[in-house]
Amino acid sequence: MSKYWSKFVHKLDPYTPGEQPKDKKFLKLNTNENPYGPSPKVLEAIKLATNDKLRLYPDPESAELRESIAEYYGLDATNIFVGNGSDEVLAFIFYGLLKKTEPILFPDITYSFYPAYAKLYDIKFKKIPLDGNFQINLDGYSIPNGGIIFPNPNAPTGIPKPVSDIEALLKRNHSEVVVVDEAYVDFGTESAVKLVEKYENLVVTHSLSKSRSLAGMRIGCAFASKNIIEGLNRVKNSFNSYPLDRLAQIAGVEAFKDNDYFELTTNNTIKAREFLVSELNALGFDSLPSGANFIFTKHKTKNASSICKDLRDQGIIVRHFSAPSKISNYLRITIGTKDQMEILLKSIKLMF
Ligand SMILES: *Cc1c(COP(=O)(O)O)cnc(C)c1O
Repeated sequence: MSKYWSKFVHKLDPYTPGEQPKDKKFLKLNTNENPYGPSPKVLEAIKLATNDKLRLYPDPESAELRESIAEYYGLDATNIFVGNGSDEVLAFIFYGLLKKTEPILFPDITYSFYPAYAKLYDIKFKKIPLDGNFQINLDGYSIPNGGIIFPNPNAPTGIPKPVSDIEALLKRNHSEVVVVDEAYVDFGTESAVKLVEKYENLVVTHSLSKSRSLAGMRIGCAFASKNIIEGLNRVKNSFNSYPLDRLAQIAGVEAFKDNDYFELTTNNTIKAREFLVSELNALGFDSLPSGANFIFTKHKTKNASSICKDLRDQGIIVRHFSAPSKISNYLRITIGTKDQMEILLKSIKLMF
């Protein structure tokens, strides 16, 4: 609290990111970072671009990056918006597309940045409860709304929805924007990007932080109709004309070129996830089906906060949403390399 803050700041409810310990001894399985580094070709391109040109402003339109993304997904560059991480892209979406008279809708258990943005922009929202199996219940979204947003797969449950269900929702909802946040889609979930040409109210967001190992570069994008992208550009250019720096634009272009590396690393993560789930289930854990680079799991007898604490004592950090709720007995564990998953399992086995 401070007398210097605007009245509005006192009312904000900011997002709390997962811990980034300064000391390196921890095995970090708490923020869904990729255990593999970025493609060596990305690193090489960043090194080459670290030169005198950094005194110049970057391309405000990120044209080359948008072209690369468009080509990769078979769309036009006018269907692509890029931002400083998908969090920034989402912030522009909230302000530019979801600030309406009716409340927006999102799941009661979901990415906790959504209510934070809604508060920041003074947007009314209504939370639609997940069903008894922790699935997003899209039937519950057929009520008057100012827009709909949900992640696919959902966070922090990791449960994927088939694109056919999303298309059915789009058929029922044409008047307002439907945003599908696909931050984790590359780990085995079907993408709705291909529906962008068919439904002009659909917005899909992607991140290069997770599947392309570039969380430190801050690159995210949105796919939508030309008209929606134009609206997002109006917001962006009223806020910051250069959200992506020179190195980020170059890193992004290279990341989409090195498809072999992308396939190899995402497949390794999927295999490590299946390995971890089957080993944990044998130890009495119940894990929700995951289409992401993390799992959401609970133990039949030992509670989540004590597992979380025991793991920390052994140098492993996982994420526990401890506020009282229907997920407070679950742990969200980021999938690392197979070796890291073996280290984790060794520590867990010591508890039982
Ligand atoms: C990580 C994450 C984001 C943000 O990704 P950045 O590109 O790093 O900003 C957005 N949505 C969800 C659901 C996420 O988990």
